[in-house]
Amino acid sequence: MVIVGILLLGSCTNKSTPPNLLFVFPDQMRASTLGFMEKEPVMTPHLDRFASEGLVLTNAVSNAPVCSPYRAMMMSGRYPISNGVVSNTTSKLAPLDIQLRKDEVCWSDILKENGYSLGYIGKWHLDYPHEPYIDCANNRGETKWNEWCPPERRHGFDFWYSYDTYDYHMKPLYWSTDAKREEFHYVDQWGPEHEADMALNYLANENGEYRDNDKPFALVVSMNPPHMPYNQLPDKYVRMYDDMDEQIQELINSPSVPDTSDRWGKYYRKHIKNQLAMVTGVDEQFGRILQGLKDFGYEKNTIVVFTSDHGDNLGKHGKISKTNPYEESFNIPFIIRWPDKIKPRHDSKLLLSVPDLYPSLLDLMGFSKEIPDAVEGSSFANYFTGGDAELPTSQLYFIVRHNNLLNPEFGSLKQKLSFDERGIRTEQYTLMIDRKANGPTDIYLWDRKADPYQMNNLAKEKPELVEKLYKKELLPWLIKTGDEWRWERK
Ligand code: CA
Repeated sequence: MVIVGILLLGSCTNKSTPPNLLFVFPDQMRASTLGFMEKEPVMTPHLDRFASEGLVLTNAVSNAPVCSPYRAMMMSGRYPISNGVVSNTTSKLAPLDIQLRKDEVCWSDILKENGYSLGYIGKWHLDYPHEPYIDCANNRGETKWNEWCPPERRHGFDFWYSYDTYDYHMKPLYWSTDAKREEFHYVDQWGPEHEADMALNYLANENGEYRDNDKPFALVVSMNPPHMPYNQLPDKYVRMYDDMDEQIQELINSPSVPDTSDRWGKYYRKHIKNQLAMVTGVDEQFGRILQGLKDFGYEKNTIVVFTSDHGDNLGKHGKISKTNPYEESFNIPFIIRWPDKIKPRHDSKLLLSVPDLYPSLLDLMGFSKEIPDAVEGSSFANYFTGGDAELPTSQLYFIVRHNNLLNPEFGSLKQKLSFDERGIRTEQYTLMIDRKANGPTDIYLWDRKADPYQMNNLAKEKPELVEKLYKKELLPWLIKTGDEWRWERK
């Protein structure tokens, strides 16, 4: 008992030094491409080691598995209906004002107020493009994607090295902190490698160029790969998979990969090797950042999170990439490390949702009192550090289709939000109800314990279970998140 008392006293004393935060999230990396999970033949030695030092939540999801909705939930701690980012920020959806609101109180705003230096490196994807459009490749199609984020919309990040959306991984473009809208620059380097270089510069902070050395820091590194295009990566990573044809063939034989007569079957076969290689590249760059954290003496007092904004089907189940409730799209990596504070372990009990990150992280860092009432996620800080928590019984799934939002025949935004996909994921089941604006409602129910590949839709066979999950799990989420979407069994 005495020893316990001393340990507690020790941890209280340490609390006076607020921890740093390093939040790294590549785009479109499904949970099954973490090597240590042994689900796909992917090489992630740095993530494997990192995972052995941290808490791995195997049941984390992206509640709205697509770019901007994830990012807005992560930043605001609120679900899409509340934060307004119900779909991607694009020029076409600009009239609906879909972007991260300037007055949204993000976790980064709170840390700024509490004396932190904040840095953001990489993809942002939270501002819609406006005229005159930035002259760059992602803005030359009918829909424009890329935009500059003005300083007043950066939510406390005082170091900025970012872009909104730009998918040329071998020649990415960035705006630096003081660059004006027309002053972006291109870099001849693979995006994740360049961003790791910048993260290392930020950590080294020579001559105080990047941040205030007397303040704790929070750094976000948002890498674009393994997002498509899958052919833009250094060849060295692809070569690492040259001897793995047999293992890759085994993956291709998985029941959810369509056969070669199907376009998505061809798509999967064409890209899987490169995608795994991209994950290996991301892993290597993440490893470099972790090494820097150690070399500069920050390892012990820095909370490190590794996650992703959503996964990637890569053609599995006939789906191109994301915006669907299959595990490939929905289930994301989530690993958090804080030496001596968070006990390394794997946990499948906590059904983590994206809005839970904000309160959990601020609570861990000692700012529980600063969490705004408007935040809809729950803090699991106590659970992360080994204590108890009331665990959620399900996670919300939310998708509104971009094209439906654009269709004037479907009425006002409010009416459009009464259609499309809602669902829940429990430890055992995934339920998704697709209320089509101009067609019959489709219902999908999978028992992931009995049917891990989600091949067998049980909705017709088990209507009572569908109704029970709707009433007991989905409806409370809809009410909690201010979502007026409803369904009734006919
Ligand atoms: Ca994304």
